[in-house]
Amino acid sequence: MVALEKTLDLIFPQKCLECGCPSDEDLCPLCNRRIKCVENLCTRCATPLKSGTFHGCGNCIDKDYAFDVALALYKYEGLSNVLHTFKYRASIKAAKVVKRLILEALNGLPLQDTLEKAKVVTFIPMHWARRFLREFNSAEFIARTVSEHLKIPCEKLLERTKLTERQVNLSGKERWKNPEGSFKVITANLPQTLILVDDVATTLATLNEAAKTLKEAGANKVICLTLARA
Ligand SMILES: [Zn+2]
Ligand SMILES: [Zn+2]
Repeated sequence: MVALEKTLDLIFPQKCLECGCPSDEDLCPLCNRRIKCVENLCTRCATPLKSGTFHGCGNCIDKDYAFDVALALYKYEGLSNVLHTFKYRASIKAAKVVKRLILEALNGLPLQDTLEKAKVVTFIPMHWARRFLREFNSAEFIARTVSEHLKIPCEKLLERTKLTERQVNLSGKERWKNPEGSFKVITANLPQTLILVDDVATTLATLNEAAKTLKEAGANKVICLTLARA
């Protein structure tokens, strides 16, 4: 993949990964400025807020989540093309940009003391059939970056027990039902407090189902962390 990307760079001039304009950098200065970390958010559902940080907002008032905290580093808008390239094309360039963005945003997150208490960073796993085809789990890459930064070990704790429809292909209601019963815990040594990572959070249904599975197996506190909140 690296060799291929280098060859392509020689044939085609470099482009900004987000807007596609000619750019010497992976992100042009304009996109770089536009991509902003989430500064204020609801720590219960990771919804970006105009001001202040609260645990509970209008978006989650009627929801009953299995996880305890949900945080997001960026808004999905402004980052959608980078994320698409990162997720579906396993691009080294996009992964480099994503890694930099994660490291830039992590220190600004609220609840640093809560994060530091986690014993393990884990991630939403891919079904083996998807992994076989795509060979890259974006959630795992993000989890490993977070793990390095927080100096908390990264471990795979969950496995997919069924191949579900992709969440992006479903409506809101279907998205909530789709992940039901699709995870199992694969360790006998489940930590009490853990960080559960995914790439993009939209309905939080996948994170909720994974958190429910972890809680049923004995986890006490699940802190969800996503790169982007749609
Ligand atoms: Zn750009
Ligand atoms: Zn909320």
